[in-house]
Amino acid sequence: MNEKRLIHLRDGRINHDAKFVMYWMQQSQRVHYNHALNHAISLANTYKLPLVVYFGLVTDYPEANERHYVFMLEGLKEVKELFTKLHINFVLRIEDGSKPMKEYLRQSQALVMDYGYVRYQRKWRKQVLEMIEEEFPDVFVDIVDTDLIVPVRVASDKAEYGAFTIRPKLTKLYQEFRDFKRLSRLRNTEHMFLRSDYDLIDPEGFCAGLNIDHSVKKSTYYEGGYLSANRLFLDFTENKVNEYVNSNDPSKNLTSKMSMYLHFGQISALELLDRMFMLHEQGQIDDSSFDAYIEQLLVRRELAFNFVTYQKGYDDFNHMTEDWAYQSMREHEEDKRVRLYTKEQLELAQTHDLYWNAAMKEMYFTGYMHNYMRMYWAKKIIEWMPNYQMAYETILYLNNKYFIDGRDPNSYAGVAWCFGKHDRAWTDRPIFGKLRYMNDKGLERKFDIMSYVNQMDLLK
Ligand SMILES: Cc1cc2nc3c(=O)[nH]c(=O)nc-3n(C[C@H](O)[C@H](O)[C@H](O)COP(=O)(O)OP(=O)(O)OC[C@H]3O[C@@H](n4cnc5c(N)ncnc54)[C@H](O)[C@@H]3O)c2cc1C
Repeated sequence: MNEKRLIHLRDGRINHDAKFVMYWMQQSQRVHYNHALNHAISLANTYKLPLVVYFGLVTDYPEANERHYVFMLEGLKEVKELFTKLHINFVLRIEDGSKPMKEYLRQSQALVMDYGYVRYQRKWRKQVLEMIEEEFPDVFVDIVDTDLIVPVRVASDKAEYGAFTIRPKLTKLYQEFRDFKRLSRLRNTEHMFLRSDYDLIDPEGFCAGLNIDHSVKKSTYYEGGYLSANRLFLDFTENKVNEYVNSNDPSKNLTSKMSMYLHFGQISALELLDRMFMLHEQGQIDDSSFDAYIEQLLVRRELAFNFVTYQKGYDDFNHMTEDWAYQSMREHEEDKRVRLYTKEQLELAQTHDLYWNAAMKEMYFTGYMHNYMRMYWAKKIIEWMPNYQMAYETILYLNNKYFIDGRDPNSYAGVAWCFGKHDRAWTDRPIFGKLRYMNDKGLERKFDIMSYVNQMDLLK
């Protein structure tokens, strides 16, 4: 591993009574290409101790509902099965005020955390670190940035203006971070007989009994876990990748569908990059498709992570975009909105716009939406709400409620982009001001958009 992925957070003391090394798995819910896991294994080998991977399930995680929980637990079910084969101890505890975690920290020599990018995750890690400092001073603590190709704080130390400012930095650095060789072998494979609150056999049944938000049901179109991600990625690289340059067309289904797996850390962006490189070197992917995909996976994605890291108000209407955009919105605040819809009408796809309704249906039923339609969908909400702030809040609310990949750095950057962030000023026009405008004529001109509508009509 490139050592720049690692931050050594605190020194502890050698504790001869320690029973294991602990990896607190949170952001990076996978075995493959997980630098944090690998680092925990090498620490366990150094201390000649077994490894415990701890997962704390929070039942009131912000904006999470049944759709998110089932997808996540489907992934963890596979993780647990793999750990059993690798003789790594895995426990899942229902987290309430860090109490279960303390049981394990008390017995740990070292804790490894994976890096979390949004505010809630950062705060959670800070609290755990403070708790260790106060109550478990012997424990060494490290944190590893393993979900990005170039770690967010290495890529840049400030909020980037746009893709054009972060692209040269990432291009210069990313080869240095193609640094995952193989999972290390754990030497002490002692079975620890630790308490776990759930055996991960039936994620859907388990979620039904949890005290969580049940308002959005599991997606019957996408299943969580590395194996599903791998199947979809294989389908992408075998059948679609050389048409990726045309993937803007929502009727054609030419994208990789990796976002939800990346969101839960069920697959690593670096693994996808390495696989793309291998196929490109073997001549199976042409240059333009390869470049186009890397632009999304590396540049656009890491720009979003840069945004949530350095822009304090990344999810606050008043602080998420540029001065020129606020100025323009102020100038157009009073423009007459021709059509207004309530949040409920939007949620039920009850607008006059056939294309928009189709996009809303895709989101509602499957938990996913094509990137071009996400832009169109959000831009229309700007047009149909009484003011910009309500539009922003409604977009983010629906985004995070229905998308499996919602609540991601890409969610906040994608929504802010609709309000001018990482974009430029366009020709001034009613309601939108200088924000980029999109309309149904564009969809009709560029794509066979009725084919998209017909496909969405079949969803249940
Ligand atoms: C209004 C709006 C809301 C969005 N909300 C989300 C969200 O909640 N969660 C989410 O993950 N993405 C969001 N995006 C970004 C983007 O639409 C999705 O990441 C993409 O559609 C995922 O599909 P895919 O994996 O098939 O993409 P592919 O085209 O196969 O791309 C591969 C990967 O590259 C990255 N990527 C692709 N497009 C973008 C982009 N525009 N910006 C940043 N990274 C990108 C993603 O990690 C994606 O999985 C949003 C965009 C907009 C405009």
